[in-house]
Amino acid sequence: MGSESVKVVVRCRPLDDREKTLGSQMVLSMDLQRCQCFIEKPGVVDEPPKQFTFDGTYFTDQTTEQMYNETAYPLVESVTEGYNGTIFAYGQTGSGKSFTMQGVSEPAAQRGVIPRAFEHIFESIQCAENTKFLVRASYLEIYNEEIRDLLGNDTKQRLELKEHPEKGVYVRDLSMHTVHSVGECERIIEQGWRNRAVGYTLMNKDSSRSHSIFTIHLEICNTDASGQDHLRAGKLNLVDLAGSERQSKTGATGERLREATKINLSLSALGNVISALVDGRSKYIPYRDSKLTRLLQDSLGGSTRTLMIACVSPADSNYEESLSTLRYANRAKSIQNRPRINEDPKDALLREYQEEIKKLRALISGQLGTANLSRPSDLWVCIVLSPQEYEERLAKLQAEYHAEQESKAKLQEDIAALCSSYESKLSNLEKAGASRRSSDPKKGKINCLHHALFIYLLHRLKQLEQEVVGGEQARNKELQQRHWQRKKLADQRKVQLITALSENSEESENVLLNVYNSIQEEVHAKSQMLVKVQGKLKAAKLEIRDLQAEFEVERNDYLATIRRLEREGQLMHSLLERMVPLVRRDCNYSNLDRLKKEAVWDEDSATWKPPDVMVQKTMLPSGTTCEMRQVEEDRYKEMLDRSDSENIVSSYFKSKRASQLLGGDANTSEMIFTIHSPPLVNGVTHLTVSSSTTNPPVSSNSIPPRPFRLESLSVLVSNSKVKRKKSKSLIHNDET
Ligand code: ADP
Ligand code: MG
Repeated sequence: MGSESVKVVVRCRPLDDREKTLGSQMVLSMDLQRCQCFIEKPGVVDEPPKQFTFDGTYFTDQTTEQMYNETAYPLVESVTEGYNGTIFAYGQTGSGKSFTMQGVSEPAAQRGVIPRAFEHIFESIQCAENTKFLVRASYLEIYNEEIRDLLGNDTKQRLELKEHPEKGVYVRDLSMHTVHSVGECERIIEQGWRNRAVGYTLMNKDSSRSHSIFTIHLEICNTDASGQDHLRAGKLNLVDLAGSERQSKTGATGERLREATKINLSLSALGNVISALVDGRSKYIPYRDSKLTRLLQDSLGGSTRTLMIACVSPADSNYEESLSTLRYANRAKSIQNRPRINEDPKDALLREYQEEIKKLRALISGQLGTANLSRPSDLWVCIVLSPQEYEERLAKLQAEYHAEQESKAKLQEDIAALCSSYESKLSNLEKAGASRRSSDPKKGKINCLHHALFIYLLHRLKQLEQEVVGGEQARNKELQQRHWQRKKLADQRKVQLITALSENSEESENVLLNVYNSIQEEVHAKSQMLVKVQGKLKAAKLEIRDLQAEFEVERNDYLATIRRLEREGQLMHSLLERMVPLVRRDCNYSNLDRLKKEAVWDEDSATWKPPDVMVQKTMLPSGTTCEMRQVEEDRYKEMLDRSDSENIVSSYFKSKRASQLLGGDANTSEMIFTIHSPPLVNGVTHLTVSSSTTNPPVSSNSIPPRPFRLESLSVLVSNSKVKRKKSKSLIHNDET
């Protein structure tokens, strides 16, 4: 299992009408052969253009068809072999992401990557021999850091992310839709497209502000020469990201700005994940920082094949954004994935289907192939039951049959046709069994049930067989040829690319290693190379300067956000501190520190889960000892918490007693500390403390008497009186 880097291609759209009327200049150019892209800073003449190399460059007049065949084709093909693949478009709003992913129907060469991928997958499926596929689709949107199912019954519902040790990160309750043809895929994506959240910005008035992920899930069952089935699963994610532009440029304010912050949160999290992966030093990859990065986790540094299409505008007015996109894309090139085939998926639906199909076929052929009605098959075992059970089963089968009949009128026609074709065989069968059931009404029922079951089995078989696709065009030589041709073309392109890229790096080596005919020739070649290298050095220095400036801007942005969040946090805290004393004391929300300790951070939903609101209820006499203790404890705590003015002991210390002790007051008083034991209230004895002072005439010179005299100490009434007496006498002894 080798590693391979994320493939990155850049696509530059033509100047649009608005840019043309504004007289915008082109600042972007490309060397298509060498897959290089150049961008010049507008209004600056003495700086060389910045240069980037990618796995493919597509300029204003290149078509989506060309791009797909050269770069997306091998990736999508590998999905039909059991790999996972992701294609995502990145770039500012209006740079051509949707044009590339969704595309337009006219001209045909500009049809988007998504419809092409559908077509491609179904072409591969139909050409496959001895292989069956189950194709399902899902479509979700991340909007304001909330996930919504674009194909679900309730598109407003917020879905949760979950993590599974084998499946990885997935969206709980995301709807899956079985698809059998390109047409069905297109209908589904259109339905989802209508459900997307659409916002309006100055850059592109109907651009989407959400990230969307359309996923095609494949289950592949290949039967080898020995009749053994091999299961695999592949998944293709087609991602259309929201615009990457800086907030200030869109003229967004208020709700829109908040939205933009969240869109950028996902995008900057994506940037951070890319940086961390490329850095090599960071062990921690911040996938958890946003929904998008969690969903794309396996596509970035995981086991998925990934293609990034960076879309840029060539106009000088978009220089900053285009440069930022190119830098982003340039970093992504270095991400390493380790693609592997998903062998033997545990939860494959296709396995269940295939097994059921086999069973059904065996059952049906078993019944048609023999006149012996009492043959012990699964079917007959379940039929030869009590009459009551026949009735129940018959009713259930008929109900199921009718339910499905209603929903699938067309299927019913097929069954009718199938049934009539088997009618003759059945009538033979009936004749053969006629002698045995002639006078028995029970057997008449068996016959009737037999009919119903048989029809149901045929229906189910047909239904299952229709769920699964594959091999329909296995004999279509022309289609297979075309399929093979495209595969070959993509391979050729790969070889071309490798040569072009290696030429880029070998050029300078050649100059150094070449053998020259004369000194002059060598000097000429080497000084030319020197000029080139000096140019590169200058460009690198400028790049460092620019990056530092950009970093500074970004840093200030972050700092401003941190300051704003801190202020907000402070406000919340001071409000809380004022509000807490207003909460009744017997409610757990009256203790802020305890609440903070008890609140739990939930990773999946990225929210705090505060403890439930609880009010300490009055205990009933039947309370258990444990509960009694709890109440007692709480009561004590409450007493301790009471304000100083209420607390006689402490006020005593603070005022009189303190001054007496510290001031050496001659009238040192004797404190009588009483712990009363009132009658049992609600099963608990409430302890109350009271004090009284007596001032016996004691001279200041004499040994000061013990300040406290415990007059009585009885805790629970239920305690034996003997104990109390004992303690009393002890105190008494002590006194004397
Ligand atoms: P995004 O989805 O990135 O916001 P769009 O795909 O909506 O941008 O493209 C903005 C406009 O530019 C659209 O009118 C689209 O038709 C046009 N456009 C984008 N890319 C191309 C291209 N390669 N060739 C021609 N027109 C394009
Ligand atoms: Mg778009």
